[in-house]
Amino acid sequence: MAITLDGSIRQLTRIGEQRAKKLEKLKIYTPRDLLYWFPRDYQDLRQIYDITQAPVGEPCCVEGVVAERAVTQYVRRGMELTKTRVVDGRGQLFLTFFNQSYVSRALRPGEEYIFYGTVEQTGSRKSMTNPMFESSGRRHFTGRIMPVYPLTAGITNFTLSEAVRQTLVSCAEEIRDPLPEDLREEHHLVGLGYALQNIHFPKDDQALAAARRRLVFEELFFFSAGLAMMKGQRSGQAAITCQRRSLQPFWDTLPFAPTSAQRRAAEEAAADLCSGRPMNRLLQGDVGSGKTVVAAACAWLMAQSGGQTALMVPTEILARQHCQTLTPLLEQSGLRVGLLTGSMKAKEKRDVYERLQLGMIDLVVGTHALLTEGVAFRRLGLVITDEQHRFGVDQRAKLAEKGREAEGLAPHVLVMSATPIPRTLALILYGDLEVSVLDELPPGRQHIDTFLVGEDKRERMYGFVRRQVAEGHQVYIVCPSVSAESTLEKGAMTATELKAVEEYAEKLQTAVFPDLRVGLVHGRQSAKAKEQVMTRFAQGELDILVATTVIEVGVDVSNATLMVIENAERFGLSQLHQLRGRVGRGKAKSYCVLVSDNRNPETRQRMKALCATNDGFQIAEEDLKLRGPGDFFGARQHGLPQLRVADLAGDVRVLQEAQAAAAKRVADDPDLQRPENVPIKAQIQALFETNTDRLN
Ligand code: ADP
Ligand code: MG
Repeated sequence: MAITLDGSIRQLTRIGEQRAKKLEKLKIYTPRDLLYWFPRDYQDLRQIYDITQAPVGEPCCVEGVVAERAVTQYVRRGMELTKTRVVDGRGQLFLTFFNQSYVSRALRPGEEYIFYGTVEQTGSRKSMTNPMFESSGRRHFTGRIMPVYPLTAGITNFTLSEAVRQTLVSCAEEIRDPLPEDLREEHHLVGLGYALQNIHFPKDDQALAAARRRLVFEELFFFSAGLAMMKGQRSGQAAITCQRRSLQPFWDTLPFAPTSAQRRAAEEAAADLCSGRPMNRLLQGDVGSGKTVVAAACAWLMAQSGGQTALMVPTEILARQHCQTLTPLLEQSGLRVGLLTGSMKAKEKRDVYERLQLGMIDLVVGTHALLTEGVAFRRLGLVITDEQHRFGVDQRAKLAEKGREAEGLAPHVLVMSATPIPRTLALILYGDLEVSVLDELPPGRQHIDTFLVGEDKRERMYGFVRRQVAEGHQVYIVCPSVSAESTLEKGAMTATELKAVEEYAEKLQTAVFPDLRVGLVHGRQSAKAKEQVMTRFAQGELDILVATTVIEVGVDVSNATLMVIENAERFGLSQLHQLRGRVGRGKAKSYCVLVSDNRNPETRQRMKALCATNDGFQIAEEDLKLRGPGDFFGARQHGLPQLRVADLAGDVRVLQEAQAAAAKRVADDPDLQRPENVPIKAQIQALFETNTDRLN
């Protein structure tokens, strides 16, 4: 019976109900899925040894003739031994199989086989236990480069490779190359059939490299073409068109002059807002580069044309702070600013809902609460998200949807990211966004000297804290919690962690700094309690603030000059950089001290990188190198397809090539309707199947 690529995996010889179930765990349902289950590594079994030359103690292939009929002995219940002997011209090899009595029928005396296993030697006697074998003429898994697959319990590498082999043989005809010939020629790409054959069973190293390059290109090409199409569709939609006007009246209300980077970014966004097409822009800038002001400029421009702006941030504290800084800034221009967070009283919320609906709020700052059902706008024209990496693409989309409800117009979208995203990753994650970069810090910012110290320097570190306070400054001491991620999201912390932080703060106050004022802020406190502590610190009523990472994206205290980070090894590089960005916001010289005794080389490299530079982009590149893209603030969250072969750090050249090719194709044929492009479109649809409607 013919095997079909998209039929059940159970069509394959050794795959029954049980194995099919296990393969489901790997999301392998069809022979096609299997073809795209790529090896994680390869084993070079090309060398086939004589018995005398075979290396001892490591797996290898040995060729020889079966000298005698294999005999099975019953040892005890559940234990049978099958033994035989293999010879070649010069040596002999004793074979033992446990509980594999079929071997006595499978191995025919006088015939030549290749055995794969580990040769052991006692005296001059060579033996192998439970080798795999095949007839010398067959060479399915011996005498070649073999794939090593990622596995799941109950599925062996042998099962997988045999299933893949069977699929490749039986479905060769059915494999259609979705990449048009001209494209393949232009980019020197091998055909799909060849690529799949050689990614699984490479003929040699060159064939493997060619196969891999082709598959990486294909993956990045479809991905980029998908993003390019969405970008095209989005720009085909109508959006509120702002009236073009100078931003100068807004700049004039600021207590400082905007940096030229801020002016440039705001002008770029303003051009989008006035274009009639929905803006889809990423504003990237290191901590402290002044992104909020750019957001305010956009909200200002939107309000001049009667549109509302929603600014969504990941935490309550951040929402409050943004509201506090933006209100005085924008009220001067007559804008009305509102706040909406989950912890507000029902009545307060209802009041905000009402004013939003009546158009009595021009800018609403809020948390996820903005996505709540009851929230409706009179004329939502602009959606801004801060700290984008904590929001999924779908959440961004959900908010944008609220704009469409009103007039059927798509709102403009501005995404702000404080985590500088390495260029390669930005291309993939935000391929559908235009990018503005704030590559300049406001004047007067200075280098934050960063030190790494061990426990042995703790007393000296406390002395340093004391000196900063004596000079009239303030100090942050950050303690990690084990589940750093959950702390960031919800301020969650286990009871034990809470106790540890409370005890530490208590100890600092009573034993170390009895004469200073020590405060504590952590994720388990109510929003109100947090706010009270933060406010006291901001107003200089506390000298030292002990904190969990809730301050990461939090308050701006320009008098704070020292950031001490305990157990610094528990934080990611970018997170450390964000934390450090909390100091150095005023005129005085600022410092960051990382406390850690961790000796892990990778951890030390991470912390040394932080000591070496203040440049967030450089740090992000380093972070990407150390942790890999998978980990990098969870690419998964974005609701974008996962990459299978491409390695974003390593395949930059192919990425650029594929992206340029995809952009060109979509520009020439925006809906990919031409016959040669139809297979491309089908692939994109499959790739974005579950995400496509949420991606804009
Ligand atoms: P981030 O990019 O990290 O969000 P913020 O927008 O919070 O940065 O700005 C950091 C600080 O710098 C704020 O106190 C803000 O008022 C100040 N600031 C922003 N732009 C300028 C500027 N052009 N000149 C001086 N200070 C500025
Ligand atoms: Mg900010």
